[in-house]
Amino acid sequence: MTAPTASRTGFVVAFADGDGTMVDSLGGKGAGLAQMTRLGLPVPAGFTVTTEACRAYLAAGREPPLLAGELATALALLEERCGRRLGDPARPLLVSVRSGARFSMPGMMETILNVGLNDAVVAALAVSRGARFAWDSYRRLVQMYGRTVLGIEGDLFEARLRAERAAAGVSTDQELSAGRLEVVTRDFRVLCREQTGEDLPQDPHEQLHRSVLAVFESWTGDRARRYRVHEHISEDLGTAVNIVQMVFGNGGPRSGSGVCFTRNPATGEPVPYGDYLVDAQGEDVVNGSRQTMDLTTLAAREPALHAELCDHLRTLERHYRDLCDVEFTIEDGRLWILQTRVGKRSAAAAFRIACDLVDEGVIDLDEALLRVDGHQLAALLHPGFADSAGHPPAAHGLAASPGAATGRAVFDAPTAMAWAARGEQVVLLRPETSADDVGGLLAATAVITARGGLTSHAAVVARGFGKTCVTGVEGLDIDSAARTAVLPGGHLLAEGDALSVDGTTGDIFLGSRQVVASAGALAIRAWTTSAPSASAPYLAEADPVVRAMGRLLAHADLRRTCTVRANAETFHDARAGRELGAEGIGLARTEHMLLGDRRVLVEQVVTGDEREAGLRSIEALARTEFEQILGAMDGLPTVVRLLDPPLHEFLPDLVELEVRAAVDRAAGTVDDAVERRLALVRRWHEQNPMLGLRGVRLLAVVPELVTAQVRALAQAAVALRERGLDPRPEVMVPLVADVGELEAALASVRAEVAAVVGDSGTELDVPLGVMIELPRAALTAARLAEHVDFFSFGTNDLTQTTWGMSRDDAETSFLAAYRGAGTLASDPFSTLDDEGVGRLVRLAVTEGRLTRPDLGLGVCGEHAGDPASIHLLLASGVDYLSCSPPRVPVARLEAGRYAVLGQSAATAPETR
Ligand code: PEP
Ligand code: MG
Repeated sequence: MTAPTASRTGFVVAFADGDGTMVDSLGGKGAGLAQMTRLGLPVPAGFTVTTEACRAYLAAGREPPLLAGELATALALLEERCGRRLGDPARPLLVSVRSGARFSMPGMMETILNVGLNDAVVAALAVSRGARFAWDSYRRLVQMYGRTVLGIEGDLFEARLRAERAAAGVSTDQELSAGRLEVVTRDFRVLCREQTGEDLPQDPHEQLHRSVLAVFESWTGDRARRYRVHEHISEDLGTAVNIVQMVFGNGGPRSGSGVCFTRNPATGEPVPYGDYLVDAQGEDVVNGSRQTMDLTTLAAREPALHAELCDHLRTLERHYRDLCDVEFTIEDGRLWILQTRVGKRSAAAAFRIACDLVDEGVIDLDEALLRVDGHQLAALLHPGFADSAGHPPAAHGLAASPGAATGRAVFDAPTAMAWAARGEQVVLLRPETSADDVGGLLAATAVITARGGLTSHAAVVARGFGKTCVTGVEGLDIDSAARTAVLPGGHLLAEGDALSVDGTTGDIFLGSRQVVASAGALAIRAWTTSAPSASAPYLAEADPVVRAMGRLLAHADLRRTCTVRANAETFHDARAGRELGAEGIGLARTEHMLLGDRRVLVEQVVTGDEREAGLRSIEALARTEFEQILGAMDGLPTVVRLLDPPLHEFLPDLVELEVRAAVDRAAGTVDDAVERRLALVRRWHEQNPMLGLRGVRLLAVVPELVTAQVRALAQAAVALRERGLDPRPEVMVPLVADVGELEAALASVRAEVAAVVGDSGTELDVPLGVMIELPRAALTAARLAEHVDFFSFGTNDLTQTTWGMSRDDAETSFLAAYRGAGTLASDPFSTLDDEGVGRLVRLAVTEGRLTRPDLGLGVCGEHAGDPASIHLLLASGVDYLSCSPPRVPVARLEAGRYAVLGQSAATAPETR
């Protein structure tokens, strides 16, 4: 037979023919293998079946006609290259069949190792490499093939292995003898036949072929789907499949497997970090079933190989210009690199690595800014524990993902999800995690695993999701079945017991500890409030992560073209917002000044019961509050929104009042005051208060509320002026649907400002705005703009009213179910619905500016602090964002990133 000559065909690409840019076709893993082959790294030979093949398979529900032929051609080339043949007992080729999608989906899809083994080959392998090795490899193949291709429950295999370990009186698979492994392998095959009527095919080509199709199928598995929904990865991408010559790390003391990073992925420290296991396969390292050693141990055992590995790590980092993670195997003293990709990292590491790479001359500050994001910044600004002293940890493990969290102990993912769904904070404890635990991991505030290193499944996934995580807790004995754990000191922990977890130090504490803002948040405040020259020494002293954070935030500030304000109505929040970098207040919700005991004032005014007294009180206290926030924001704009109380939040509960009156009546002690109040509350009661007497409508019904508030605001501003300050009040009108409503409200505002200013003899310019938070407001923006200086998009209500779903109830009533079913990828109340609400925003921006080119355009709904929404909003043309004070740094960072992305579309992060 003549050797095939073409190495590249439509659905299959040999490693030697690909490169790192071909991620769409080859998936991340395939592109990495191709690129490493190109860089001359020691990569086993192999080829990739492309994502196009997978998509064609999934679309048609059967394999594309050309695929089998192309696979055969590629396999023949591989055999020639390796000098081995699939199924040839004399010189057997064994391959792994590994999934590898465009975006990394760790553990979500399938891998089958040792494809090519059959009864004849295993016998020959037992002679050439030892019986134990041969049977261990064969049993792994039957197990993985059985689970992945034949669809048999993985636990059935595990139970059989457990039984064999118990019978042999050993605790690990490594201790099982060749004879026992042979028995287990045969039992596994019986299990396959019993469960499916099928055995492991003895034709290795059939094994390979069906394994490839099974990996395609794993793209549509529940686990993978759930992960994609959470990570916003498109359903349409499909996975590539990599067929790689097997190298074995489990061949004795000069063999082993490891996972490492070019830098520390938890802290960002610029030193290679990794886990290594002697005489083990890669799965053993990742699943945490054995305690790993770190790279320094490898350096001591195999100095030359360690040096070679470090050399390759440098090559990879130079090529990718970023932190890389690498899987490697040592087979009888020879190093093989099996995989690389740009590595996942903690939020802290992301900031530090980005800035270190700037200092090393690898990237510039713009690119560094694109290497971090608002979610990571938010995670860093996440809390730590209040009182650091006097709390001896009950256990200590590896600080796998930073942050601090408390919650009640649970021991499996379903419990974690169920408890979290009813509002509990839970800490998930597992011996180690697998892909099946991801739902629990997402539901928990923190995750603890007894085993596993910084590269274990739990660590990688938790870091990716920004969850606090501690792994490898020595001496922690978790009994998942009994729902208990014994801590290293002997303490018995039961389900429901409170725990506190510090993912930054690896400490675990009994009980609930108080959680507080991070050093990073405190540092940001310190920088913003000190003069630039004074901040420099502070920056120099700060730890590298905090320093990196400050540096990238400062760069974002330099780049961004929009301003960032805070939503605040108290002195404390206004000051906090300013300290975190807010350049004004974009929304002071005046009704928040009237909560608690003050609620009754709104009731008095609205129901007309003691209206005058209520108005006087509201005016007096509003004036004090306005003076405070205008003072805190001295020199910066402060947008005060006229009262917008959903009335039910301010009136007494009708049912309670009715019950009280009924009880009084029954007892013959009718209370006139209660009866009168009941009548008034009945008069104002609404079935659907969110669509009722709110915002501008209330102001139309009780116009004195406008006058009282505006008078208080104008007087506060005048008073501050007289004290030499520079107050910049602005007023906006909420819940406007029609230009007539707006005109009436604005007429009152203007008249009242003019009256106060006239009396005082001071000049006061008060810009006026309207909130765009009803679809009709957006649709009639051109007319509204004739009357105002600015629009402020209230995207909370705009989402509620565009979707026609309650912002208060939708999550628990059906949104969670929608997300679970994949009906909606995300919650439109947290990430802007670009297609619907976003379209209204764009319409209003365009039409508003057509009427008034210098119209100010802000956003004050929650979306202004959400990273993805910020990009959409800025792309719509808004020029300021206003969000809650803790999210101000996130908005600053994302606005900077948006500006940089606009200038360098070529380096834009990939959309999924
Ligand atoms: C909004 O609706 O987006 C808004 C900012 O107003 P509130 O949340 O107070 O209704
Ligand atoms: Mg609103």
